[in-house]
Amino acid sequence: MSIDEKKIQEHIRGIIEALGDNPDREGLKDTPKRVAQMYAEVFEGMNYTNRQIAEMFDKTFEDDLTFSQSAGDMVIVRDIDIFSYCEHHMALMYDMKVTVAYMPQGKVIGLSKIARIADMVSKRLQLQERIGTDIAEIIETVTGSPDVAVLIEGCHSCMTARGIKKTAARTYTSTLRGRFQNDTALQMRLRL
Ligand SMILES: [Zn+2]
Repeated sequence: MSIDEKKIQEHIRGIIEALGDNPDREGLKDTPKRVAQMYAEVFEGMNYTNRQIAEMFDKTFEDDLTFSQSAGDMVIVRDIDIFSYCEHHMALMYDMKVTVAYMPQGKVIGLSKIARIADMVSKRLQLQERIGTDIAEIIETVTGSPDVAVLIEGCHSCMTARGIKKTAARTYTSTLRGRFQNDTALQMRLRL
């Protein structure tokens, strides 16, 4: 699937008309095109399945085995900044921070790849919870480790800027797989 920018342009023009404005006036005449270009960028992840994203970032380092051999080693990357759009309102989710942890089992993924995976899955119409499960699934595929945790916090503009307007409300979600599910000591280490 690839993003149909022409179709987005047509619909944005229709929305401007439905709002009662003139899509041909100076300030708006290029807006449909700009929005379509922006959507192509911020929804880039819609072009790929989780499996394709896993293949894209499947650069693991098998020589770092000494590190990953000792039981109980954990890799944790904190506070990866992402933006996303909620699928219920197509509203921006912002100020989001993602923490990804896993227990390596012979394969270590490059740390920047973890950030790029988080970035790519958030470039979809999303739910915060599903960003977590998407990242966990991809990390599991790439590293071959079933022990993966993803913690996400973020603000949803559909809550903070409209509706109930709870401007300070933050949403926290956690996706715990494998040993992270039941091992409270491991869960504590996530929050260090
Ligand atoms: Zn929403």
